[in-house]
Amino acid sequence: MRAAIFAREGRPTGCLLQIEDVPRPEVKAGHVLLRVIACGVCRTDLHIVEGDLPAIQPRLIPGHQIVGEVFDGATLELPLGSRVGVSWMGGVDGDCWYCCHGMENLCDKPVFTGYSVSGGYAEYVLVRSDFAYPLPAGLDDVHVAPLLCAGIIGFRSLSVAGVTPGERVGLFGFGSSASLAIPILQSWKCEVYAVTRGESHRKSATSLGATWVGQEDDKPPVELDRAITFAPSGKVVVSALASLRKGGVVAINAIHLDQMPAFDYDTLLWGERQIRSVANMTRQDARDFLAIAKELKIRPHVTSFALEDANKALLAVKQETADGSAVIVM
Ligand SMILES: [Zn+2]
Ligand SMILES: [Zn+2]
Repeated sequence: MRAAIFAREGRPTGCLLQIEDVPRPEVKAGHVLLRVIACGVCRTDLHIVEGDLPAIQPRLIPGHQIVGEVFDGATLELPLGSRVGVSWMGGVDGDCWYCCHGMENLCDKPVFTGYSVSGGYAEYVLVRSDFAYPLPAGLDDVHVAPLLCAGIIGFRSLSVAGVTPGERVGLFGFGSSASLAIPILQSWKCEVYAVTRGESHRKSATSLGATWVGQEDDKPPVELDRAITFAPSGKVVVSALASLRKGGVVAINAIHLDQMPAFDYDTLLWGERQIRSVANMTRQDARDFLAIAKELKIRPHVTSFALEDANKALLAVKQETADGSAVIVM
């Protein structure tokens, strides 16, 4: 099969992924083999291939927003040819303290799709059957792909931040995940305040109906109940914190931050303000979000790339030049 490979060592300079022919995986117990139809490109993929996250495998196929059809290893729940989605959480041990306490997103022995095991930048991918979600009809292949990480984890961020209907919510750093959170916030009658450095992102937040849109150093005109940061930048977290009312919460939707700058406790965190990180997702988050996405008819803007152009897709995410979410289409 054709696949885009990340090699920890021996890469030609300037080349993140190499397109190669590799053996197709064989189906094994508890798994299904999918024929990949589309795979969304996430900022985490960039953190993996640029070494912000430690390399677990010497050679790896990235990609964890996979839309595929069951090709081998079909089950009653996942019949042959049925369409499923696969996300970042590719498996858990099921018996650690976190799994036993309803927090499988924090599992001690997690499997991460496209990081600890190979992912969807390929014609086929082997995934755990219990981490493949049947996809609702009405969400087409290419547009459902970005929902599978950006959407699900953006949705989880809203609950980590404790958003309740009618609140004022800030979205700091605007990308795929933030744009997918807006329709949900609107359905909850929340006011959305978007702060982002990219002009195209400000336009997109405006067109999605944000109440107020500002530039990187602008402060929202009102105190926020909740804020979610999407940029891999500690400075953005501090800006978000500075916009909160007393008792407000900042949720950080980023697997990697450059660093957290020092900040003044007395003015910024005092008053029972909270900073929380958002780590991974549970299967229930995925099911809940996919149901909401269907109901609200959430349909992201996407830019499609061929598998051969996987490097271009990663660069588009890095340079924020993709119009909407980047998706590799087989
Ligand atoms: Zn566990
Ligand atoms: Zn992701």
